[in-house]
Amino acid sequence: MNGTERRVGALFLEDFEKSGINLGPESQKNFILLNNKINSLSRKFIKGQQDSIFEPIDSAPIDIPVSKLYNLDSQLCSFILDSSTKYKSNQGDMLRLNLSRYIGQHILRNSPFEDLRKKVYMSLNKENSSLQSTLEDILFTRHKVANLVGFSSYSVLALKDKMAKSPKNVESFLSSLAKQESLRWDAYTKQLLQIQKCLDAKGFNSNTLSSDTLQLWNRDFLIYKNQQSYSTSIDFRPYFSLGRVFMGISRLLTNLYGVHLESVEPSPGEIWDPSVKKLEVRTDSGLLLGIIYCDLLERFGKSPIGAAHFNVKCSRRVDDDFFQNSYSYTNGPIMHTTNKKVHQLPVVVLVCSFKKSTDNNLTLLNFDEVETLFHEMGHAIHSMLGGTDFQNISGTRCPMDFVELPSILMEKFASSYPVLRMFAKNYITGSPIDKGDFKKYIEAKNSTAIYDTHSQIFMSILDLRLHSNFNGEFDPASTGNPYSGFSTNTLRSLHSDPVFGSVSGNIFPYVHGTNWLPKFTHLIGYGSSYYAYLFDRVLAGIVFNSLFSKVLQNIHQEKVDDNTIVDFKSANSSPKSTYLGDDFRQAGEAYKNEILKWGGGRDPWVSLAKLLSHCEHEIGSTNIETLSKGNEKAMDIVGSWGLSP
Ligand SMILES: [Zn+2]
Repeated sequence: MNGTERRVGALFLEDFEKSGINLGPESQKNFILLNNKINSLSRKFIKGQQDSIFEPIDSAPIDIPVSKLYNLDSQLCSFILDSSTKYKSNQGDMLRLNLSRYIGQHILRNSPFEDLRKKVYMSLNKENSSLQSTLEDILFTRHKVANLVGFSSYSVLALKDKMAKSPKNVESFLSSLAKQESLRWDAYTKQLLQIQKCLDAKGFNSNTLSSDTLQLWNRDFLIYKNQQSYSTSIDFRPYFSLGRVFMGISRLLTNLYGVHLESVEPSPGEIWDPSVKKLEVRTDSGLLLGIIYCDLLERFGKSPIGAAHFNVKCSRRVDDDFFQNSYSYTNGPIMHTTNKKVHQLPVVVLVCSFKKSTDNNLTLLNFDEVETLFHEMGHAIHSMLGGTDFQNISGTRCPMDFVELPSILMEKFASSYPVLRMFAKNYITGSPIDKGDFKKYIEAKNSTAIYDTHSQIFMSILDLRLHSNFNGEFDPASTGNPYSGFSTNTLRSLHSDPVFGSVSGNIFPYVHGTNWLPKFTHLIGYGSSYYAYLFDRVLAGIVFNSLFSKVLQNIHQEKVDDNTIVDFKSANSSPKSTYLGDDFRQAGEAYKNEILKWGGGRDPWVSLAKLLSHCEHEIGSTNIETLSKGNEKAMDIVGSWGLSP
């Protein structure tokens, strides 16, 4: 057996063991019962979420003086006035409002009255003992399943096949990252406190509830105010028609990997809606690598799942299939590779929900949507270039804490001005995006990213501790009262945990009487792996900064000729030409060969170490050697790279 075959065998074995293959018949029955229970509890938990942010929440109405509707959107004010009960009190005209999440979030962001924000925050986040007990029952049952198949906690079971390997290693990464970010948090805290002080001076905080500390009910308001100070009013949509963005992605792929996208006519009956586009991915020499269907526009009846990437058919070797005339031979084109192996062509679907534009028949995207499309194309290209011999390790079928690296790396390219210069052009004036404007926009975006990182780290540790510190002694079924308080206690104690490294512990202290865990639905899907996205953000950052960033900066300094750059037709007619230069192409080739090509067929730590050894002078040889081991120290090193933009 070769290395890949052994890896596939080991993955199967691990999966069987986690699924209880070594258990006796009684325990196996119990294993199935417990898993069924987890599934039905999870459905109950998700069903307990509100369908719409416009529905009134399940909470007592709140009383608001009419005078405090100041600064809210005028249409929303009319709605509130129309839908609330009116009465008079010694505070003047009053409203009794049934709060919806939509109204609540608007008040939290825009109302200058702190007492009103506090009332709304408490109401939106009040404890929900029914959902909290369902959550604890899920945690308890997961813990029992883990014990049954020989693991000390659910986290230990869930992390065994991830890059992180263990809860201890995840803590190592998160605390190292938190330490790295703490200086930026402290500076950000000071900024927010300064804004709060200025507002106090204007007399809006009539109750002066919290003039020198930050409170969660003031969070959205202060962050929004801070954001406004950076804000740029430029509308980038005219630069990003859907067609241009695809052209840009295709050009980027040519420059990185020597492949491009070709739009082709689907056969009758091949697509499920006329708006779906079919793209072939081909090498510069014309070899077909795979098919991407793009279902990108919103339409009536389409599932509101947001942006996603689906594998329809994974790449796998088919010329040595045991069964002759197998399904794969008759099902679409087969790729003949240079080593005479025959592979099934990968087929993927990208789904987004971009609004159809009425403007000049073009669909224009804002920058967030451009990033989303680059992100999803990152997954698609992983599927196209990660053509392994086995379907269960091809492309994106790799550990959950590695799979977002290629997609987040594509987002990094979208934010790079030399890459944008290859395609972003105003469809009315024909001018490219102004570099200064774009820089200002990215700075404004990064200003809120500091707090985002903070809350992502917070939620990651919370998810980990809820799934690893459960003592397992508490049995909801025997006590009859399934709510133990474990989840609230874990949430509360994390708010003052020194892991956040900031002067004041967490930026925002815990608010007594609240618990937002019933809304943290990612606990169900991730179950100890919520850190994965942050982890891949750090990995994508180090790969971008050490391999591509300097090359791109040099291109920018040389002022690349606009005419060469915007001529897409010449890109297709002479596919070998690269606009971003040979160094960029070499970096792309290294990344393809060390990361994308392997899918899940090699230990990602080995792949990462091999890739970073191409820029050893930046990372250091000792660090590269440690990384290849993928242990607690390696996780600590990754955290220490931080998330600087
Ligand atoms: Zn993704």
